[in-house]
Amino acid sequence: MLSTPVSDLKGVGCKISQAFKKAGINTVADLINWLPYRHEDFSSVSKISNLKPGKVTILAKCESIETKQVRRGLKITTAVLSDGDSKVRAVWFNQPYRSTQLLTDKLFLFSGSFEFNYNRYQITNPSVEMPKKFGSNEPNNFLEPVYHSIKGINPRQLRRFIESVRPTITMMQEIMPQFILKKYGLISRSESYLYMHFPKSRDEIILAKNRLAFDELFEILLASQLNKQANTRLKSRSIKFDQLAVANFVKSLPFSLTNAQRRVLWQIIQDFESSTPMNRLLQGDVGSGKTVVAGSAAYICAHAGLQSAIMVPTEILALQHAETLQKLLSPFGVKMVLLTGSVKGVKRKCLLENIANGEADVIIGTHALIQKTVVYKNLGFVVVDEQHRFGVKQRQELLAKSSLMPHLLAMTATPIPRSLQLTVFGELDISTIDELPSGRKPIKTQIWAPTNTANLYDSVEIEISKGRQVYIICSLIDDNPENDTKSVEIEYRKLRSTIFNHRRVAMLHGKMKPDEKDKIMNDFSAHKIDILISTTVVEVGVNVPNATIMIIENADKFGLSQLHQLRGRVGRGEYQSYCHLIMSDHSKPSQRLREIEKSNDGFHLAEVDLKLRGPGEIYGKSQHGTLDLRIASISDTKMVERVQLAVRDFINSGEDLLQYKQLSKRVQKYQRLTNLN
Ligand code: ADP
Ligand code: MG
Repeated sequence: MLSTPVSDLKGVGCKISQAFKKAGINTVADLINWLPYRHEDFSSVSKISNLKPGKVTILAKCESIETKQVRRGLKITTAVLSDGDSKVRAVWFNQPYRSTQLLTDKLFLFSGSFEFNYNRYQITNPSVEMPKKFGSNEPNNFLEPVYHSIKGINPRQLRRFIESVRPTITMMQEIMPQFILKKYGLISRSESYLYMHFPKSRDEIILAKNRLAFDELFEILLASQLNKQANTRLKSRSIKFDQLAVANFVKSLPFSLTNAQRRVLWQIIQDFESSTPMNRLLQGDVGSGKTVVAGSAAYICAHAGLQSAIMVPTEILALQHAETLQKLLSPFGVKMVLLTGSVKGVKRKCLLENIANGEADVIIGTHALIQKTVVYKNLGFVVVDEQHRFGVKQRQELLAKSSLMPHLLAMTATPIPRSLQLTVFGELDISTIDELPSGRKPIKTQIWAPTNTANLYDSVEIEISKGRQVYIICSLIDDNPENDTKSVEIEYRKLRSTIFNHRRVAMLHGKMKPDEKDKIMNDFSAHKIDILISTTVVEVGVNVPNATIMIIENADKFGLSQLHQLRGRVGRGEYQSYCHLIMSDHSKPSQRLREIEKSNDGFHLAEVDLKLRGPGEIYGKSQHGTLDLRIASISDTKMVERVQLAVRDFINSGEDLLQYKQLSKRVQKYQRLTNLN
């Protein structure tokens, strides 16, 4: 039975049961779910004399074998294998049991990597299989599952235990509705596990993975659809559309909105009118002009007599937004306040009063907005800027500050690839600003070796003399004697006393006091500073259109989306902008840097990032708990779309999810994970 404890299996003693437990395997079901991460292919057997470096399989006898304890925690087992004609060395790490396994006169199949190591060719860590299992000495098409190892249980034992629960696998119950299986050509759940653990062909593995991946995605997608339905049952305040007022406001802006901005604003206006809460994600590349959209929506909300809260991740950004929006909103009599952690004492008390009695219409701030002491009079609209910087919990806390559910607009410059839109973000409506304000020139990006920077500084000097400004990003604040990563303090001292001693150089980092930071940021905005040497505190949102050069020291230490964000601090105005990525050393630039150099398109880069790092890294922990995707690849858009159709079929069928006990349990887990309300 699936629920049988593994300790009841034959051969599982106290020690092994402990080892299983450590790996999270308590029941037979857990054991069955310990799926192989790949399959070794024994189908092509080579003669030893013909071996070429790379993955090989040979049919050979073990002539001699010995194990040495090299140091604590490392035992090396070395064997000489022979196929009658020639001999080859094989080496295993920490697998001393190989001696007892191999010292017989029998032929085995060895499969592993044939490589040049320690001055000779050898096969490293080969897996071993008995050919007689397939009835002949010439196996064909044999595939052996390879499992993540479990400390205290050797792979041979593990396979024996899995073999022993084969009858249970054969009797596994289906969890999916039959009509879905049929329509989407899926094998049964039981078959899929049998094929994963005991495949007879590559095709079987493909069928099995296809089915298991389908299940994983189906659970996530169904969960987000159910959350979406639940959202439509909530109540919010409807905000009426006053065409004249909106037209006047838009006319007052210092520029005309792009078509994309207009489209998104219109979507928001329509959502506002409804008394079910808006649940919208606005994605737009860096510099595409999301702030003014949020500001316009906040105006509409204030015009209808309701409060808006705009939450941003850093104090610098809060300050800057406050300044931008103040200019737009105050002519219309909209009162805006700025609430951050550094507003203290009487000033804070007054602010809180203004928020509570409704005098403040638009409240901009950092995490401070969700503190207990902040009470809103009638919060109708919540904006979360740079939403990936916040957890689900923080969004929820802000939304909970109102008796009726406020409308939510989450904004991000890290575009969400289509497959993730459908899965993790499936319950949100998504708006996209897919066009930059006119007149923007693509940023020119270049990778530099660390010693080449004299040329670079010449070009910086030319830009400054044209009246432009420069960011230089270092990852550290102080110098760290243990590595040679550049630091803000040292670069600041160096540059202002040497090449740029005739220029206005300043530094900025997170350890400075809030009012110091404000002053520097304001001075940079007002062009009282030419070169700003900073940590990544300027990474998100900061907007100084006159800055045209972004220099990133130790660029190889940054992630792809972070580099794109940093680069997005330039190219925000009419001037040609440049981004210089300086390597830590003379090694070859990574694919990441190459991609950044080639492309300015945040959407493309997000897809690349997803492929390079996987969704867990990008969208995983902080926001959604762990996405339990073991087989499915969330970047497989085709598959995701197919599963989405299946989810729709299921919902339309009117079948009750609770009827499918196991399925509903798993779906509920995801519902809690991704829920935004
Ligand atoms: P992001 O989408 O990265 O948050 P911002 O909202 O900070 O971008 O806008 C970037 C810059 O573009 C700002 O200086 C803003 O004033 C300007 N901007 C926004 N919309 C337009 C527009 N339609 N035409 C010209 N400039 C615009
Ligand atoms: Mg922004």
